[in-house]
Amino acid sequence: MPHAVSLLRAARLARSAKPFLARGGFKRERCEGCRLVPTHCMCALRPAVATRAGVCLLMADIEPLKPSNTGWLIADVVADTFAFGWARTETDPALLSLLGDPQWQPYVVFPGQYAAPERVVHTVASSPGSLDGSAAKRPLFILLDGTWGEARKMFSRSPYLDALPVLSLEPEQISQYKLRRSGRDDHFCTSEVAALCMNLAGEHIAEQTLEAYLAVFTHHYLRAKNQQPIVWEGAAHQRLREVQAVTTAAPAAP
Ligand SMILES: [Zn+2]
Repeated sequence: MPHAVSLLRAARLARSAKPFLARGGFKRERCEGCRLVPTHCMCALRPAVATRAGVCLLMADIEPLKPSNTGWLIADVVADTFAFGWARTETDPALLSLLGDPQWQPYVVFPGQYAAPERVVHTVASSPGSLDGSAAKRPLFILLDGTWGEARKMFSRSPYLDALPVLSLEPEQISQYKLRRSGRDDHFCTSEVAALCMNLAGEHIAEQTLEAYLAVFTHHYLRAKNQQPIVWEGAAHQRLREVQAVTTAAPAAP
């Protein structure tokens, strides 16, 4: 069953008058499951983690078409991932009903400086046992997936987001996170933001799986681009196997 981002990609492709060519991309055949060329397919490595938390991706127009989009990876890992194309003039009724669904507590993940102070939160009510009534709900992280300019537009021109709390990631959390990833640039991609949200929700297996899976994807993506073979026994694959070994060894949730 294709996941939410895959379906959104297919719908967006169907609307295109001409075929989309990724910038600097390769025009070779791609796997439907992972968007990579078949020789570099990573479908066999796709992890799945049971989570209470969900993710709702609001995606800028061509974002689902980009082979480098990492919202796709979130949808691979987190079963309750929803994806919607964003447009200023129309809103998918399914998005509105998701946001109104009482099982979820939605959070818009965005820098707090752009929101009214009373909306800004830095923590997630995630423990089902806590006395706070909101904790009975499952956290739903709304990620604005696009360029920074597109994300700002989505944030300011989506009235249905205006009443929701804004989860602002603290600079300390971000810098701690960066310390753990060695030798990478400062760009924070969507699946890294999702990993940080899972951390705040106490979903550490999901957090670690997203991190490890992103590293595996980055390896496959770059090796495909450079027409080099996959290093199956490299650090990235090893780390993903370790994380998955923990997942399968953990007792089933009650
Ligand atoms: Zn594949």
